[in-house]
Amino acid sequence: MSKTLFAIFGNPVSHSKSPLMHNLSFQGLGFDGCYTRYLLEDGATLKKTFFDLQLKGINITVPHKEHAYNACDVLDPFAQKVGAVNTIVEKEGKLYGYNTDAPGFLKAISEFKEAKTVLFLGAGGTAQSTSSILRDASYEVTLLNRTPGRLKRYKKEGFETYTFETFTPKAYDLVINMTSAGLEDDSLPAPPEILEQVIPAAKACIDVIYGKETPFLKLAKSYGKPTKDGSDMLLYQGIIAFEHFTGHQYTFEEIEPHMKKAFIL
Ligand code: NDP
Repeated sequence: MSKTLFAIFGNPVSHSKSPLMHNLSFQGLGFDGCYTRYLLEDGATLKKTFFDLQLKGINITVPHKEHAYNACDVLDPFAQKVGAVNTIVEKEGKLYGYNTDAPGFLKAISEFKEAKTVLFLGAGGTAQSTSSILRDASYEVTLLNRTPGRLKRYKKEGFETYTFETFTPKAYDLVINMTSAGLEDDSLPAPPEILEQVIPAAKACIDVIYGKETPFLKLAKSYGKPTKDGSDMLLYQGIIAFEHFTGHQYTFEEIEPHMKKAFIL
């Protein structure tokens, strides 16, 4: 019998750690699966591509999480609420959609036990799902974004929102870079005069970018703040996706040591 096939769809996708994370876990747990990457250029072809490739499950990364949402026959309630899907599993010919980014992020910040108030730098797709789960978990989330456009939906949902021009710095327990600033350039997610007020007042600073020390985390370290990059978020979203892929045959704790190896290779 052939292996059960999985993939990550994205554009670009060549940098993704997901194939390594999932293949190490299949191997370690003795699950007969194989996970590859697929450069999907046109998000509208996601569903057809999924079935053409005879896949059992996929992860979806930038820029196709909304297309993935639209491709699903059945949505998990949280994915439905936030309008973004990063994990799809096929069951009896139907596509089931989940969002594992947000619970992965929630778990990643759980080590900061005292934190209650959070400042998000950025208001894009990742901020959308993570702000929602944080609010459900009783964090108070404020969003600060470069431009006003993306803030509209957050404002409608009752979040406190600011642009750089309207922001009056206050103390927040966690300051989190939710932007792509620093991913492929050396830019900060907000003007230095704002960061130089919110970072010293924070208990910790977090970046969702992984695999490099961003200018934001460098600045936070220069103030002696505890910092954390996006690696744990990536790991935990992957473990939760793996649970869905394998029909919850394995617990989070069983999967974790295998998937973690992808971060030390
Ligand atoms: P989006 O494209 O949806 O949103 C981008 C956001 O970044 C917007 O708020 C945008 O502001 C802001 N932005 C971009 N460049 C700058 C800049 N130079 N200065 C200030 N603000 C800027 O991106 P996503 O939400 O999909 O992704 C955000 C980050 O999250 C990426 O770096 C991605 O790699 C990371 N990520 C990490 C994951 C993990 O597992 N660790 C999982 C998913 C994402 P504006 O509205 O003004 O344009």
